[in-house]
Amino acid sequence: MSNFEYASAPESKAIANISDSYGLFIGGKFVDPRKGKSFETINPATEEVLSKIGYADKLDIDLAVKSARSAFTKVWSKTPAKERGKYLYRIARILQERAREFAVVETLDNGKPIRESRDTDIPLAAAHFFYHAGWADKLEYAGFGNKPKPVGVVGQIIPWNFPLLMLAWKIAPALAAGNTVVLKPAETTPLTALLFAQVCQQAGLPDGVVNIVTGDGITGAALVNHPDINKIAFTGSTEVGKAIARSISATNKSATLELGGKAANLIFEDAAIDEAVEGIVNGIFFNQGHVCCAGSRLLVQENVADEILEKLKARMSLIRIGDPMDKNTDLGAINSKEQLKRIHEISKSGDAEGANRWSPECKLPSKGYWYPPTIFTGVSQSHRIAREEIFGPVLSVLTFRTPAEGIEKANNTMYGLSAGIWSDKGAKVLWAAKQLKAGVIWSNTFNKFDPASPFGGYKESGWGREGGRHGLSGYLKSDVKASK
Ligand code: ADP
Repeated sequence: MSNFEYASAPESKAIANISDSYGLFIGGKFVDPRKGKSFETINPATEEVLSKIGYADKLDIDLAVKSARSAFTKVWSKTPAKERGKYLYRIARILQERAREFAVVETLDNGKPIRESRDTDIPLAAAHFFYHAGWADKLEYAGFGNKPKPVGVVGQIIPWNFPLLMLAWKIAPALAAGNTVVLKPAETTPLTALLFAQVCQQAGLPDGVVNIVTGDGITGAALVNHPDINKIAFTGSTEVGKAIARSISATNKSATLELGGKAANLIFEDAAIDEAVEGIVNGIFFNQGHVCCAGSRLLVQENVADEILEKLKARMSLIRIGDPMDKNTDLGAINSKEQLKRIHEISKSGDAEGANRWSPECKLPSKGYWYPPTIFTGVSQSHRIAREEIFGPVLSVLTFRTPAEGIEKANNTMYGLSAGIWSDKGAKVLWAAKQLKAGVIWSNTFNKFDPASPFGGYKESGWGREGGRHGLSGYLKSDVKASK
């Protein structure tokens, strides 16, 4: 194979105007936390400190919830639906106008390749606002009953893997449906949420409709437990999702929980092999594998397994790992030291339990948090690497002989968020999709997202759906539920 070298093509940081410090965004203004506590957010690719971020505790959460309640009662619930839609359109357009700035800040704070933040995260975030802007004045005609009502004040907690996109998934439908929100971004990636607070100011959104509080799990728990919250919308680990479900169980709060996954990517013998290999790479190495719906369990029909593995290894050898700001980079930095530790720990269990590890030769930068693209073969269903979510660029490869065995193995998981099917027989794809217990199933592709398409899981992957009409129903009080 020819050795095709790329000259580096770094994106400029000049457009990112990151302040030395940020307060909390409450009632339309940036305010200092009551106790003046703060924490640092760093660039995981360089370990450089990017900014000092306000740390919200119970008192600050109380202020934010009060501000959201007052905005709900006095302003937002009285704002005509068409006007709500206009604000959402305005936000969407500002996100597009400031897309490059958002992409650069996202990549600096998260470690993901600029190509992905530029081409996926930010355009999809804007698309979510555009999509939901269109819904704002059509809720009465959407099968939610005559006069569907907002649930009120919503507490929203999001993870670090798609910071702005997860914010958009949460805030756009909530506002379209007439709710006000208090949102907490993850502690390692608060910057684009704070930039979004500026967008709310720029759009002239009434004060208190969106409040952004920064902090860690303790801050998140204070939000969950605040008595004046009507609903919690959470995306994150199954463990925290369960804790949230427990804490709200004796209250009237409703919840949407989007949790972990261990998706099967099923390759049948009649699949288009080269396309399937691209799909495997996209399924597990997109966003460093920090994806709850990642195709982290590859299930290959035995008679094509050798061919697939050979081609997969050749393809993996071409993955460019390094500076996330370089437009050629495919695999960026792991988001945090803690996450890197977790990836090492579970991967080592793969070695200890007898699976065979393989990574292409690659040089990892000396500073920052990095993990090479990795596959394990000889994996059995009982191995930890086949059962637990690794949330990193690590793929477990299993094989099957008959389609029925493939389905059985695919469904042998406590999760059920997504799955992929590769076959050139339409009837087989439909048959398999029907058997698979997963909320989202891709056929001959992987990791495709659209605001109109509901997303969510079965079993321990969560409750409820986000996106589409189904996602809106979680933000409305209605006697009529969206049909499945
Ligand atoms: P991950 O494993 O992806 O880091 P977590 O579930 O730990 O996922 O974190 C997702 C979000 O939940 C983050 O914003 C985090 O601060 C928040 N969080 C963590 N613990 C709690 C908790 N006990 N209650 C509420 N939110 C929490």
